[in-house]
Amino acid sequence: MKKWAVFALVGYGLFALAIYYYLYDMAPGEIPEIYKGTSADPAVFLTAAEQTLGKEYSTIKNFLFFLGVPFEWLVYFFILVFGVSKKFEEWSKQTVRFSVGQTAIYLFYLSLLTFLLAFPLQYISYHFSRVYRISAQTFPQWMKNELIDFWVSYVLMFVLVFVLYALIKRFKKKWWLAAWALFVPFTVFMMYVQPVLIDPLYNDFYPLKNKQLETKILNLADKANIPADHVYEVNKSKETNALNAYVTGIGGNARIVLWDTTLKKLNEEEVLFVMAHEMAHYVKKHIYIGIGSYLAFAFFGFWLAAKWMERWVRKYGKQLHIKELSQLRTLPLFLLVISMMAFASSPFSNAISRFEEKQADAYAIEMTRDKEAAISAFQKLAREGLSEVKPPALVKIFRYGHPAMAERIYMMETYPLEVKEGKRKEERSGASAQKSRD
Ligand SMILES: [Zn+2]
Repeated sequence: MKKWAVFALVGYGLFALAIYYYLYDMAPGEIPEIYKGTSADPAVFLTAAEQTLGKEYSTIKNFLFFLGVPFEWLVYFFILVFGVSKKFEEWSKQTVRFSVGQTAIYLFYLSLLTFLLAFPLQYISYHFSRVYRISAQTFPQWMKNELIDFWVSYVLMFVLVFVLYALIKRFKKKWWLAAWALFVPFTVFMMYVQPVLIDPLYNDFYPLKNKQLETKILNLADKANIPADHVYEVNKSKETNALNAYVTGIGGNARIVLWDTTLKKLNEEEVLFVMAHEMAHYVKKHIYIGIGSYLAFAFFGFWLAAKWMERWVRKYGKQLHIKELSQLRTLPLFLLVISMMAFASSPFSNAISRFEEKQADAYAIEMTRDKEAAISAFQKLAREGLSEVKPPALVKIFRYGHPAMAERIYMMETYPLEVKEGKRKEERSGASAQKSRD
């Protein structure tokens, strides 16, 4: 077992070096020839200093991302291999009699330990977003969000873990199917309450402050059959300088949310373009497609996790002091497997997302027919967020739910808008539905 730990650590070190080499020495992500000199060329709309800052900042963020994912796996693996999980379970059993309390205590120790171990990387990431003036949060404000994150995920995890282990005890073989069957309504419920219960823990949401702009936005929303009370502004300027907007929630809680930073830094036409883009997600029900594919993936994921974990316990259970899967101490194994599967599937979910984003961009330009506003909106988004105009391939595959900014701008510039007068056949289906994408 100790040997495995050494292998894992050496493997992690080599991986970190390889990623460093890829991101810094190979420095991929050149601007393709066809973009040169067009409005998609960063040299055209960014100063040399802005380009350098954007590249530096993005590369740091990318590097931290690729270090962070396997670091999480390493943590779960060590917690298992060095008997930490077993210790936590024993302590919880010494403290209380009932399994509800034992789960709560075990989970608290585990959450606290993983939180503390992940903290340095989290802090470094915050530090750089401060240095590059993306984050506008003071340390106490940032820390407060970290703590809210901790408790929100603790409560949700508690519910999930308690039910999961009860099911493993009851259904020795088909527990994964039972777990998935309960996971479906849980996910739908969470999507429903997210905008009204979870999001307000972090930020204030309110109707648009600029009433003149609001009228224009609501007129546009009306064209797409989106109810007026589904459009919100959120006070983001106290924590970030980046621009964004997104669609979230389902059913009656579906809403389009515009960051106040976006409203402050974009002109009216640009805001309307961004709004039209979000409306496309809403109208095309991308949220529901997202939930559907997520749950389909989860079905396969639960099954695979069950098979994998049962094999592990059979093979290595003795060495790890695990008698059966239903012991709480196996949780880090479950988290490890889930995290690995999520990472492995991210290229697919990102590809689906990028496809939807393209659809939304096309819908927006058809609706507003204002190429100039579309292009300048994207250019400002790139500038204010110090985003990479053309990311390296690996970064795009694993991190980009949106097409690269250069691609989006180029698509707008070359978009074939019909000049013909008369009725256009845009199917603006009446909808009262949504998704959570920006
Ligand atoms: Zn979008």
